Amino acid sequence: MFIMSEDSQRTQGRDAQSSNIMAGKAVAESVRTTLGPRGMDKMLVDSGGDVVITNDGATILNEMDIEHPAAQMIVEVSDSQEEEVGDGTTTAAVLAGNLLGEAEDLIEQDVHATTIVEGYHEAAEIALEAIDEQVNEAAVDDEILRQVAESSMTGKGTGGLTAASLAETVVEAIRHVDTDAGVERDNVTVHTQIGASSNATELVPGIVFDEEPAHDGMPSEVEDASIAVLDVELDVRTGDVDAEYAIDSIDQLNAAIDAEEGELEGYAETVAESGADVVFTTEDVADRVANALANEGVLVFEGLGDSDARQVASATGARRVGDLDDLEESDFGSADRIHTETYGDDDLAFVEGGAAAETVTVFVRGGTEHIVDELERAIGDALDVVATALESGEVVPGAGATEISIADKIREEAAGIEGRKQLAVTAFADAVDIVPRTLAANTGRDPIDVLVDLRAAHESEGRAGLITTGDEVTIDDPFEHGVVDPADVKREAVESATEAATMIARIDDVIAAE
Ligand code: ADP
Ligand code: MG
Repeated sequence: MFIMSEDSQRTQGRDAQSSNIMAGKAVAESVRTTLGPRGMDKMLVDSGGDVVITNDGATILNEMDIEHPAAQMIVEVSDSQEEEVGDGTTTAAVLAGNLLGEAEDLIEQDVHATTIVEGYHEAAEIALEAIDEQVNEAAVDDEILRQVAESSMTGKGTGGLTAASLAETVVEAIRHVDTDAGVERDNVTVHTQIGASSNATELVPGIVFDEEPAHDGMPSEVEDASIAVLDVELDVRTGDVDAEYAIDSIDQLNAAIDAEEGELEGYAETVAESGADVVFTTEDVADRVANALANEGVLVFEGLGDSDARQVASATGARRVGDLDDLEESDFGSADRIHTETYGDDDLAFVEGGAAAETVTVFVRGGTEHIVDELERAIGDALDVVATALESGEVVPGAGATEISIADKIREEAAGIEGRKQLAVTAFADAVDIVPRTLAANTGRDPIDVLVDLRAAHESEGRAGLITTGDEVTIDDPFEHGVVDPADVKREAVESATEAATMIARIDDVIAAE
């Protein structure tokens, strides 16, 4: 009796388990070499020939176009890590892969999958306690925030910029949007612009977007601007039907032209008389109207995208107006300064200060598209971790130190766990060792030697990580060197990696439709 289509493929039992585990491990393995300050980059070329060069785990896994369903689950681990905390995507994927590797060994030793799952969950609980114990006692101040930002960017391709100077900009940006209601992370945007050295990267107190004035004669700069945001077409209404006018005399033609001109002049007058200095509209503006407004010294941007219009309105405190007759001064927003600049082939508009200052833009510069793209990702991660650290006030030592103490605590507590589950709990600790081991391998050190040294230093000194500074690699307290990660990044990595690994390990039947 067939209950499934004859074309569907079914893999069962050990075969299903090992094929899933292998796929998951392979994916995690593919990002391992990018981990840490000495991690290497990957170049990904898609079928259309587009190239992405990156060090970012989530980006790599997403660009890889992975199809295997179990492998896809590892990609989801790094995606959810990116979404929840914005960093630690490589760590989470590598941890998930190693948890699967350890699970495979346990299955070969006849430890049942459900025992592995229980053991892993118990170990994850202990790991979270260990993270709590590692949380800094000192309050999170700007200095620590800069360290968090710098630690997240070290090893990324930041062009000619040092992670330290970028960290400064990132912290300034997050401080700017730190309100009583919490950190308004969404009020920090990143705008990339190719064509200068990355040293020109700066913080703009407002918003930046790709727009040019509707007319050459308009001012390129307006101070203390009153801003109208419209969803109004400032052009002669063109109907949906093709109307034809039968014009059989010059008088009639002139009358038609006069009527059109009158309509256009009316628009220009209404806008000019409203008192707005700067107008943004999502619709078109007729040349004649633009010309008349230019003569009045009004700066107009036309054909704005809806999201840009929304951003301008919210940043300047303007209310969007859909009918010119309704335009009133109370709808206006304000900004200290609006100016347009030309960068190579691109025209940019800057809306700065005033109400707009609630939002800030990290204006990222770089020589090539690849540089600005990777800078944008690195800065995005740094903004996320600084926001996370500021909100929770909790950071833990980086450079593998937190992982060393997690593994240590799990092994200690494993002794009190009965039966085969103890094997699974210990295996979890072995899997966590992948982080310091990989940091060691990526700096050209022997992972086993480093692990032994780190454990010894952890035993005698407490915090111990493998610190990379410039060309030097030393074992020391990461807090002393400013290598810190938000506690939430570690927590999320433990939780999402455990979830994915246990879910994959429990599957013993794969039914795939053709
Ligand atoms: P992820 O995608 O997991 O964030 P990264 O490549 O960003 O991967 O590497 C993060 C790891 O690098 C963290 O464990 C962090 O503590 C560590 N790290 C950052 N800076 C240093 C440093 N100067 N020395 C050693 N380790 C560092
Ligand atoms: Mg990182």
